[in-house]
Amino acid sequence: MSVTELPPKSGAEANENAPCFVYSFKDGDGKNKKLLGGKGANLCEMTQIGINVPPGFVISTQACLDYLDSESKELPDALIDQVHKQIEALEQETGKGFGDPDNMLLLSVRSGSALSMPGMMDTILNLGLNSKTLPGLIAQTGNERFAWDAYRRFIQLFGKVAMGIADAEFDKPFDAMKKRLGVKLDIELSAENLKEISELYLEVVHSETGRPFPEDVFEQLKLAIKAVFNSWLGKRAVDYRREFNITPDMANGTAVNVQTMVFGNMGDDCATGVGFTRNPGTGENVMFGEYLINAQGEDVVAGIRTPHPVHELAKDMPQMYKELVALRDRLEEHYHEVQDYEYTIEKGVLYCLQTRNGKMNATARVRTSLEMANEGLISRDEALLRIDPEELDQLLHPRLDPDSRELPVAQGLPASPGAASGSIVFDADRAELARDDGQKVILVREETKPEDIHGFFAAQGVLTSRGGKTSHAAVVARGMGKPCVAGAEGIEVDVEHRIAHVGDTVLHEGDVITIDGGNGNVYLGEIETVPPVFSDELRTLLRWSDEIADLKIMSNADTIEAATLASDYGAMGIGLCRTERMFNAQDRLPLVIDMILAQSREDRVEALEHLRPIQRGDFKDLFKVMSPRPVTIRLLDPPIHEFLPSERQLEQEIDHLKRLRETVCGVDDLMGSMQLIRRKSDLKDLPKPFGPGGLELVDSAIAKKQQMLIKVRELFEVNPMLGHRGVRLGITYPEIYEMQIRAIMEAAAECRREGFDVHPDIMLPQVCTLKELLWVHNIVDKVEGEVEAEYNTDVNYRFGSMIEVVRACMRAGRLAENAEFFSFGTNDLTQSSFSFSREDAENKFLPLYEENDILQDNPFETLDVKGVGRLMQIAVEWGRKTRPELKVGICGEQGGHPESIRFCHHIGLDYVSCSAPRVPIARLAAAQAKLLEKEYEAEL
Ligand code: PEP
Ligand code: MG
Repeated sequence: MSVTELPPKSGAEANENAPCFVYSFKDGDGKNKKLLGGKGANLCEMTQIGINVPPGFVISTQACLDYLDSESKELPDALIDQVHKQIEALEQETGKGFGDPDNMLLLSVRSGSALSMPGMMDTILNLGLNSKTLPGLIAQTGNERFAWDAYRRFIQLFGKVAMGIADAEFDKPFDAMKKRLGVKLDIELSAENLKEISELYLEVVHSETGRPFPEDVFEQLKLAIKAVFNSWLGKRAVDYRREFNITPDMANGTAVNVQTMVFGNMGDDCATGVGFTRNPGTGENVMFGEYLINAQGEDVVAGIRTPHPVHELAKDMPQMYKELVALRDRLEEHYHEVQDYEYTIEKGVLYCLQTRNGKMNATARVRTSLEMANEGLISRDEALLRIDPEELDQLLHPRLDPDSRELPVAQGLPASPGAASGSIVFDADRAELARDDGQKVILVREETKPEDIHGFFAAQGVLTSRGGKTSHAAVVARGMGKPCVAGAEGIEVDVEHRIAHVGDTVLHEGDVITIDGGNGNVYLGEIETVPPVFSDELRTLLRWSDEIADLKIMSNADTIEAATLASDYGAMGIGLCRTERMFNAQDRLPLVIDMILAQSREDRVEALEHLRPIQRGDFKDLFKVMSPRPVTIRLLDPPIHEFLPSERQLEQEIDHLKRLRETVCGVDDLMGSMQLIRRKSDLKDLPKPFGPGGLELVDSAIAKKQQMLIKVRELFEVNPMLGHRGVRLGITYPEIYEMQIRAIMEAAAECRREGFDVHPDIMLPQVCTLKELLWVHNIVDKVEGEVEAEYNTDVNYRFGSMIEVVRACMRAGRLAENAEFFSFGTNDLTQSSFSFSREDAENKFLPLYEENDILQDNPFETLDVKGVGRLMQIAVEWGRKTRPELKVGICGEQGGHPESIRFCHHIGLDYVSCSAPRVPIARLAAAQAKLLEKEYEAEL
């Protein structure tokens, strides 16, 4: 029976045509997360597949948006009407009455948007309690302590969320009472204590707001709904959406879930817990989670008491454990995805309170993808689509050196894997300040709360002294892929004095510590890290990716280290070796400078002859590491003045050298003047600042620098990036390209002789016209003939062109007459298409363009599909018209980004080439591009 007095309906007829804002769990569309939010949709779906969910209803995200848009900021009448109807239905279903003192219906009110944003918005529990229903609850449960506990929790939560009172106002009297009574845990408080605290809390509400705590249960419900709606625009939620790039397209507004309360804190036959259907840290297929007997859900997540691992439930409540295992199996079987679920056991009945797709780190995502595919729960394609390629980046970061002998000073739970070092900070605001100051920090807290979120963003890792693997700190850190050690009980955090005690050691803010979220260890100081290892699961998934993808993944690499890494990560060749990086190494630069300063062709050739064996060695290393995969070597690209110091620097150096010269001369003069005041025998022992020949050395340095200065002035260009560089340089100084070509051919011939199968691809930068290709190709053919004769072996190279300027795209058909392959240099092609210099653009106006949506993305990071991409598409089409087998790839920075990779697949490129660490990301992205090609075409 309901005791609810429905308020008079204003304009009931008008409301008949009103949109539907409210859906019962029995009727809501479980697939419509945009309308019902993720949590609401899942509650509907679980209800409809027969899982035991406490009954309730969802208020749609549309209602939230309408409310937030309204000027009055009042809930529409139609919505209130519909809520009343749903409450009536709940009353019927449960046999309880909302506000009925003898048999009260209590509700939880929770937020839930289309995308899960853990802890980002507000929740209210035990709604419906007031001074009249409370005695009823005591009488009904026969558990006075339970009832007062529920009441004081409700006043605090409602006071905070719906009335804007700071937690601290409630914490003060609560902590004072605990101190007075000498108790540590809430559970040690008696009914009498909780009654006293409830009364104090009511006073807090009155004094903080000037209003009494609302007694009318409908008033409570309306305020709660509004508070949840408003939380969508709260700072935490807005920050979270910004950080994770959640656009209105993905989630707009929050739904409100109103659900019958069930209690895990009615006695020792009650419990509450949270679980993952598999371990979200490792991916292992085991029951995972924690529970607390006689507690409410928030206690587990907030880390107020340290909960028990779920397997202990098998001993504590064997029947409930069996049912929990069945629930977990049912959830995975239905959702085909790892679930993060919450449950409550109320007097021997198991209820599932919510479920959502589990957030996990990349290790777990990879392992669960592989295992779920092998178990037949999902297909291989689904397994590959389940992983965001960028997530793999987490696996490619260093971990603590396993040989480190450092002993941990404390241990907690391994809550989110990975290792991090940094200075201790005790609150989120300081973490942010320190990060802005360029420091690495570890956020150290007793426990974390949603309002600490900015501290997570700023910190390298998080350490808490309380809470379990499903505490707020653990869940949030895992979602971000940041290391976290939780519940390190050996550490006592004293935020007030900004210190932490670990045994006898006192840690101060600013002290450096290292945490290992993989095993829960905490160390003093910074510990060395070692490179990551590829797991077998990841290898298998990437092999599946390669089997599906059309695109090959090559790597940009110009050192043996980078090539080795690329090879380990599965690169199918080198797509770009920038030879200028080889010129810059310390042992070569003086030779390169000699070559630049040479006054005649003969002198230049002589200088280049010194460089040739070094280049040959470089190329041999790369060929061997990559054998039998192709290695694409780009001939020298930058303007040669880049190898010389700047004019200003040279002028300063010459100035210093001249002063040094005066000093050296002065020392010699000093010897003469000393003779006037000392005996000759004394002068013998005076130290000489320069040995014999010092002056000549300084003189020759001055001469060389002056020569360099003349050359720098001679080479000066107003726009060097648009000037004397690339193939134009190779044509004006043919001996430079000839040396490089010979070094490549000789390296290939020598490798062949040593039994390596090598495939050099020679590539020209900055090509504008066919004649440039022909010019250099002649040199290549000539050198090939000479080297093949000398080594008596074939060299078998391929000759190709970078496509970096707009004219090259327009003349692609002609270029393909001579080039066997094209490689889009989209760094330069983007500059030349936009007429932006990258450096100026990124420093001066691109951020503003992005902020104001003038450009959606930075085109130097994400390929500008509509402009640069269009040019590429034309070049591919025209190039292949001339030469159908033309191999085409991309080697600009955008080549490693999943969005750009989708486009490269779409226009039929053969390969993408990216930096070595991005190779695994690109491999997976290439498979996804293939799997989603139809969707992509539809999107374009
Ligand atoms: C490019 O322009 O995209 C390219 C790969 O060459 P670089 O970055 O060396 O100019
Ligand atoms: Mg370039």
